[in-house]
Amino acid sequence: WMVRAIALKDDNDNIIKWYGSNIDITDHKELERQKDNFLGVASHELKTPVTSIKAYAQVMEMMFRRAGDTKNAELLGKMDNQINRLNNLIGDLLEVTKINTGRLQFVISPFNFNQMVEDVIEEVQRTSLKHKIQKELRFEGEVTGDRERIFQVITNLLTNAIKYSPDASRIIIYTERNENEVQLCVQDFGIGIRRDQQDRIFEQFYRVSGSREHTFPGLGLGLYISSEIVKHLNGRIWVNSVEGKGSTFCFALPLQ
Ligand code: ADP
Repeated sequence: WMVRAIALKDDNDNIIKWYGSNIDITDHKELERQKDNFLGVASHELKTPVTSIKAYAQVMEMMFRRAGDTKNAELLGKMDNQINRLNNLIGDLLEVTKINTGRLQFVISPFNFNQMVEDVIEEVQRTSLKHKIQKELRFEGEVTGDRERIFQVITNLLTNAIKYSPDASRIIIYTERNENEVQLCVQDFGIGIRRDQQDRIFEQFYRVSGSREHTFPGLGLGLYISSEIVKHLNGRIWVNSVEGKGSTFCFALPLQ
């Protein structure tokens, strides 16, 4: 059984009253389990052929380049980019099934936070030359956590900032120490998010509805994965956004 509660709020977002009901979730749970099982098997099976297609594409690109055939080499390069996108989508699906079945693993150790942020920026900037990523790194020191997973969270926030803002617009990434936390924010000047959607975007498969879904490709998993990672590391993640003006996504992690 599950208790479903809905809060009735006034104009100032204060809760006036709770409405609750009991729902039988046995079937629901079983469906969820089957969905996770399917997603796990499907994404696992997709991974292997995509990996070999990528290897073939790379070999062919190299062969064309050696033969001086730049035109075909460039085509293969484009193909490689699309394979990377496919790989990322499959990777996200795999991660979600791991999260949902409690199998996402973490490797905790101390690392230089700024260096990691610089590495993310370099990698993201390499594939998206149209945006200018500006950095204001005011936190110095080490953080104890899973470097790779935090790298993944920041990559997600940065690629979203790029995806949901016009070409050539500015993106600012800043870090600072806030009492016993390190805080990182990514600010963009893009489409922004409506107030009533701001909590929901962290749910799995949730995407802001409207014509947008067609304009911006994606599965609606990046923010869910990011928030699960941050929560697992005892941190917080949130967004400030004004529709039509832009968004600032931040997360904070505890320092030891
Ligand atoms: P995806 O981008 O694949 O849809 P995410 O989980 O990363 O999945 O994001 C969920 C939704 O949140 C997006 O579909 C989009 O509507 C909204 N969103 C995320 N980042 C931004 C941003 N920087 N600006 C505006 N909307 C955003």
